[in-house]
Amino acid sequence: MWRATVLTIFPEMFPGPLGVSLAGKALASGLWGLEAVDLRKFATDKHSTVDDTPAGGGPGMVMKADVLARAVDAISADRRPRLLMSPRGEPLTQTRVAEFARGDGVVLLCGRYEGIDERLIAARGLQEISIGDYVLSGGEIAACALIDACVRLLPGVIGKEASIAEESFADGLLEYPQYTRPASFEGRTIPDVLTGGDHAKVAAWRRAEAERLTRERRPDLWEKYLARGRGDK
Ligand code: SAH
Repeated sequence: MWRATVLTIFPEMFPGPLGVSLAGKALASGLWGLEAVDLRKFATDKHSTVDDTPAGGGPGMVMKADVLARAVDAISADRRPRLLMSPRGEPLTQTRVAEFARGDGVVLLCGRYEGIDERLIAARGLQEISIGDYVLSGGEIAACALIDACVRLLPGVIGKEASIAEESFADGLLEYPQYTRPASFEGRTIPDVLTGGDHAKVAAWRRAEAERLTRERRPDLWEKYLARGRGDK
């Protein structure tokens, strides 16, 4: 079973949004597992201190390497990657998510305050992962985002495998526009090709729209797509 272990000072934030809808149902039926571990349990003083003032001065607090190391070491040695949620980490992409989803699961360390002692990252070989170029107040929401993106790729979690194969990023493009009934909404109609019943024309229209949206909105993705030879992998 694919398992996520989250190391956090706020274990009560889990499962949180991961407990509802597709991920929640899959969790309840044992398609994946989740464990939130309270970092404070690994503190040794009576106040359960997990942080201390930054060496060199400056604002805020830094999470302690010794306490966090005990927590990381308490997670049974297995082949799951040990990830640190971090704004300076490798940007999370759908390709990376798919790699994590194919494995046994993930161990996620959530920072708070100013971040964590650099020595822990080196000493435990943590891979730093960022969910975007903005700063959250803690790693928990980033961990939820990573887990959610992985869980929906696990076999049996989403009904139709096809809906995964066609969606945004699957082939390096953003997804084409979607429509459903009613046929007319505030005077706006559904493109004729989608209601005409010609599957080849529908596929061609969707491809063209996916390419147009990617070109207009994400020149970075568009360049990579062209360099790969337009989806020929
Ligand atoms: N002082 C740090 C930010 C600390 S934010 C810096 O400037 O880099 C506190 C914690 O929130 C981080 O340790 C990390 O675990 C989490 N976090 C914040 N932004 C994140 C992001 N974009 N992606 C992943 N984790 C993030």
